[in-house]
Amino acid sequence: MQNDISILLVDDDIPMCEGLKDILVEDGYKITCVNTITSAKRELADKFYNVALVDLKLPDGTGVELAKEVKNINADTIVIVSTGFASTESCIAAMSDGAFSYLQKPLNIDELKITIKKALKMQELSLRNKELLNRLKELSLKDPLTGLYNYRYLSERLPAEFKRSKRYVLAISLIMLDIDYFKSINDIYGHQYGDIILGEIAQFLIDAIRGNDIVVRYGGEEFLIIMPDTDKDGAVTFGKRLLKKINEHIFDPEGKKIKIKASMGIAGHPDPGIYTESDLLNAVDKALLNAKEKGGNRLTVFNFVTVKETEEIIREGGEDNVGKLKDKMAKTEKRANQTLLETIYAFAKTIEAKDYYTSEHGENMVSIATEIGKKFNISHAELENLEHAAMLHDLGKVGIPDSILLKKEKLAEKEYEIIKKHTSIGAEILRGIHFLSGVVPIVLHHHERFDGSGYPGKLGGKDTPLSARIIAVADVYEALIADRPYRKACSKKEALKIIEEGSGTQFDPEVVKAFLEIMDRGDRESKQP
Ligand code: GH3
Ligand code: MG
Ligand code: MG
Repeated sequence: MQNDISILLVDDDIPMCEGLKDILVEDGYKITCVNTITSAKRELADKFYNVALVDLKLPDGTGVELAKEVKNINADTIVIVSTGFASTESCIAAMSDGAFSYLQKPLNIDELKITIKKALKMQELSLRNKELLNRLKELSLKDPLTGLYNYRYLSERLPAEFKRSKRYVLAISLIMLDIDYFKSINDIYGHQYGDIILGEIAQFLIDAIRGNDIVVRYGGEEFLIIMPDTDKDGAVTFGKRLLKKINEHIFDPEGKKIKIKASMGIAGHPDPGIYTESDLLNAVDKALLNAKEKGGNRLTVFNFVTVKETEEIIREGGEDNVGKLKDKMAKTEKRANQTLLETIYAFAKTIEAKDYYTSEHGENMVSIATEIGKKFNISHAELENLEHAAMLHDLGKVGIPDSILLKKEKLAEKEYEIIKKHTSIGAEILRGIHFLSGVVPIVLHHHERFDGSGYPGKLGGKDTPLSARIIAVADVYEALIADRPYRKACSKKEALKIIEEGSGTQFDPEVVKAFLEIMDRGDRESKQP
């Protein structure tokens, strides 16, 4: 091991220096002798010496001066001073200037060897401390969950990169990425699984970026990619490719196949309106927000002119312009909402199919629920929410394992507790969709009972939203007249009787009354020739 240890002897007494060299070489140290401060400095600058044994009096200066210099050349080198004129002052001076120890001449070889060993031990400790400190610093700049750089790192790195881009007149771009509806992954599969997916997303991003790019975990499920030397167009090309890759990728830890969607904002420098790194960060944030507002799963580029124009049209309030803009936005939003709704409906249908309901279950639910709703004179908007809820009330069953959902035998208590989660899972999925926010409470509370013993809120009486009380009746009736995994269908007559018996305990009596009137009328209508 000592073969790796280099010691520099600095002394103008050349024969003594050479003698010492012979002795120390025998112990396996690599020894170099120099006779002046100037040549010592050159040596120390050229290579790393573990120890420098320096005579206090040298032809071109003092050992104290050299001890001071060593700190600047390589602070890890340990200086031991040797002197034949051991005045207390000079030794104290050398020590306070960084020397590790001093030895009296003529040197006692045993004492010298022990001092070198002690010096090396201390050096080893200090190097290890330094390494730990570096590691600690690195850790403090990294996010423990994903191993990516964190916000703290960003706050140091982004200004540096921005400054560099300005100095060398280079472009720089940012991509901010937020996972769409990430909450639903947590709700359906648990927070811990959400953590695993976040780790996989981080790795996915690391694999996707190019050499100079840097990925930072900006927040919970938000990531920032810093792209030095890349203009906005380049970032857009990359972003589009990345979005496509994300859409196609299947994350499958623990064998569950998860697809995710993401929204991205892009901003670059140089660009109008962007003069500082915080302008750039604000711009990319705005672009991301815009992508989210447009419904997510897309990429939006910050454009100062467009933002300004839009803001001005609204501010100046040219009636015509505002009207046109609002119209245009409303149309786009409606179209996007409709597409989304169709997708969710299709999704809800696949769950229904699994759950042994008839293929018309959804439609029957809508018809019964809205008929009851009308009897209560609820508003148009509420009626619309009721209709959506009738289709989507069991959406959360997507989060329930088939082994429980399709079980033919009686459910164990634990399994029943899992089934019960479908109300909150469904609500949570829908919570991410702005225009369905009115549907969330209905889905959440459609298993409450009038006597307060239902779930998830144990809400009694009119504390449960009216629409949820309506869905409760329609849902139970529909379940009764369908074949279930654990029993055959009841006749309509039997089902109506069961609902009637539940009035005041399971169901709101007023809703039951309205329901029976509708069914009675339906019966009479169907009996007419
Ligand atoms: P949106 O499409 O609007 O982005 O919907 P979202 O569900 O992704 O909601 P939002 O961005 O508002 O909230 C982020 C959610 O991500 C909140 C939290 O449930 C989840 N999340 C944030 N950090 C972590 C984390 O470290 N681990 C896990 N498992 N989940 C996290
Ligand atoms: Mg977010
Ligand atoms: Mg999100």
